[in-house]
Amino acid sequence: MNSIAEKVVVITGASSGLGEATARLLAARGAKVVLGARRLDRLEKLASEIASSGGDALAVATDVASRDDMENLIQSAVQKFGKVDVLVNNAGIMPMAAMSKLKVEEWDLMIDVNIKGVLYGIAAVLPGMLNSKHGHIINLSSVAGLRVSAGVGTVYSATKFAVKAISEGLRAEVGGYGIRVTTLYPGAVASELVNGSSDAEASSAMKSFYENYEISADSVARAIAFAIEQPEDVAINEITLRPTSQEF
Ligand code: NDP
Repeated sequence: MNSIAEKVVVITGASSGLGEATARLLAARGAKVVLGARRLDRLEKLASEIASSGGDALAVATDVASRDDMENLIQSAVQKFGKVDVLVNNAGIMPMAAMSKLKVEEWDLMIDVNIKGVLYGIAAVLPGMLNSKHGHIINLSSVAGLRVSAGVGTVYSATKFAVKAISEGLRAEVGGYGIRVTTLYPGAVASELVNGSSDAEASSAMKSFYENYEISADSVARAIAFAIEQPEDVAINEITLRPTSQEF
């Protein structure tokens, strides 16, 4: 199997932004999509829109910071569609603030969602993929997972560097079992992510940065589709994409 059609693709954070755009694109290309996020109303609306366009989608309320929820998401996919070909670990949060503001609860939340969420996703799909010697795990890092900017993004960057490390180690470990691993490093992409800062100073700096540079979420969806549609013996390991004019 080397195309997108008929693949079962589980996408976390599918209730908005990159996850939603990816679900729409892959469903239009014939994938069966399984949508995970906390806002079930949004997922159900998206699933019904996909179904009315002739696609297949399942909505499952999921908090990626809960290992039980992630296991349930994957089991729900298997029960409904019989398998999981691809997991897109996309859910993430970006509450920016200078470290000196000591937003320690937000540091904890970023670690729970951006790092543990990815690990719980891997834990939920890996046994089945190892067993079938087939599968594809796609993780969302960021350009902030490649560089640390001065100012407000230190802990967010730390979580995205962690995603890079996890992906790279996983790739080296499981490639021999026929499992592909892809990491994406996007720059500024239009979504709800930029609204996540409780710190007024960081929030307005981020919003004006995004207003200047952001590109559409479809750009990331297309990159994900490109990685999935390669023949099974080709793993697209890393994709960095930025708005053309963005330096960071
Ligand atoms: P959005 O805020 O639009 O979407 C984030 C998604 O994550 C939502 O669907 C949200 O759903 C979900 N989410 C948040 N917390 C949890 C949780 N605990 N459990 C389950 N789902 C959760 O942002 P983006 O689409 O931009 O972000 C997607 C990914 O892309 C993130 O990992 C982000 O770091 C990364 N990224 C984004 C960039 C950008 O510029 N937009 C650039 C580089 C990387 P709900 O609230 O319903 O749970």
